[in-house]
Amino acid sequence: MDLLVEDATFVTMAEPAGPAEAMLVRDGRIAAIGPAEQVRAAADGAQVVVRLDGATVIPGLIDAHCHVTDVGYLAAAADCSQPSAPGIEAIKARLADAAGRTPDGSWVTGGGYAEYKLRENRHPTRADLDQAVPGRPAVLYHTSLHACVLNTAALREAGFADGQPDPPGGAFGRDREGRLDGVLYEAPMFALFARNLHRDLARMSDDTGSGLIGAAGRKLSSFGISSACDADLRRETFAAFAAADAAGHLRQRIYGLIVHDQADAVPPGRHSGRLATEAVKIWADGGMSSRTAAIHGSYPVPPYGSGILSFERDELTAMVRDFDARGFQVCIHAQGDRAIETVLDAYAAVLTAGGETPSGLWPSGGNPRRHRIEHGGAMYPYLTERAAALGIVIASQPGFLSGLGDGFAAAFPDRYDELYAFASWQRAGITVAGSSDSPVITADPRIGIRDARLRRTGDGRVLGPGERLSAREALALYTTQAAIACHREDEIGSLEPGKLADFTVLDGNPLEIEPERIPGLGVLATVLDGTPVYQSGDIIPGG
Ligand SMILES: [Zn+2]
Repeated sequence: MDLLVEDATFVTMAEPAGPAEAMLVRDGRIAAIGPAEQVRAAADGAQVVVRLDGATVIPGLIDAHCHVTDVGYLAAAADCSQPSAPGIEAIKARLADAAGRTPDGSWVTGGGYAEYKLRENRHPTRADLDQAVPGRPAVLYHTSLHACVLNTAALREAGFADGQPDPPGGAFGRDREGRLDGVLYEAPMFALFARNLHRDLARMSDDTGSGLIGAAGRKLSSFGISSACDADLRRETFAAFAAADAAGHLRQRIYGLIVHDQADAVPPGRHSGRLATEAVKIWADGGMSSRTAAIHGSYPVPPYGSGILSFERDELTAMVRDFDARGFQVCIHAQGDRAIETVLDAYAAVLTAGGETPSGLWPSGGNPRRHRIEHGGAMYPYLTERAAALGIVIASQPGFLSGLGDGFAAAFPDRYDELYAFASWQRAGITVAGSSDSPVITADPRIGIRDARLRRTGDGRVLGPGERLSAREALALYTTQAAIACHREDEIGSLEPGKLADFTVLDGNPLEIEPERIPGLGVLATVLDGTPVYQSGDIIPGG
């Protein structure tokens, strides 16, 4: 049945953007969009008319770098968030309850707490968790995913003991006597999370895995997200996505970035309209807030190093050359300037096939596979110029600015205004795609759109005021630009005739309201192929 959508503000993001008062959806695609008379003329009389009472229709939002499976994994954990669990007693009850439904061999898992929102205003400890879950491992993840708490059995199984020094890139919480109090910060937390996730996924049946993807999809669609790049696709997570797709449970189009050492374990290609695996993911360095991003010079804050470079230039170049020859889009995590330089060296060697042009620059368009840099935190001007010349696409995270920005300012006291330089990158001609890196921060793109405009940290400091984007540029990160980063600009990213009918209905216009108010915009519906996958009311038939 055709849908005629009327009485709405349409932010089409098309270039050039003509006036749009109505949209006709036929067979999952946009058949017409424009002046009401023109669109009605294209309808055949049998359509369902949807009047949106002045709501705003934007293209379905795209998250170009998200750890979708992790989002689902945490959604399935015991909810220990505030205000739902206001104090440590409530958290203990949730964990005790979760123990009853956690299979043997898996850790009892909770997530979402923030110590500063708890009645006790402190992290729960190993002793608290021991009371809730005695005798078997239990873990409680902090909402930031930069810390967690383990009970005694979990500390033992993870190999952590009293008297052990703090590990590189991280720290243990300790009690007054110096014994581990169960809290882990940064590096050991990241390693533990990855290990638990992959152990649990490897054991999951297709049904459970598909359920986890379903939980992630419900959450992402409630934020208006209709497509996402999964930045960490492996054999077992691909199986979960494929099972969810076969069952018709995918609420987003998923473009998987296959972890490089799994490239032979995951079939490449377009598997359906909602699942594709055409890219590989490589990590060149660590993170900015954990100070493991590889930089020139050293950090003025603990652990005072220069970060960690995962591959030397020649090794990385060989990998890029191999994946490029096999037809993959290559997406490389690179945060520090030293890592970004190494990645650009590798890309230059492959894309210019034996040397750069005499000017040292390569005309844009020389990167047909759209090889990407993920994050690009400390991509300073000389690196920006090189990336632009090579035609490299950047998938970055504006929402880091409010979520992690104060940590960046501490780690880069002299250059924080140059981090995540979205406006400079765009002026240089680089395609910049918006994304969350969730669950590192929330997957909510409304936060990212606001942060791209304001660049304000949690403490209220503005990082790089000259890098603030306009309303339209900020929305483009999550629509037209992200579509290019996924090779899908012919299908998604703007509302135009012939494109897929993927759209999001908001209760206000993100181009018109004050940026501070963008996170408060309500998502009324998220629609894929003309069918709602999420609705807060019952405004669109189907689904
Ligand atoms: Zn990531």
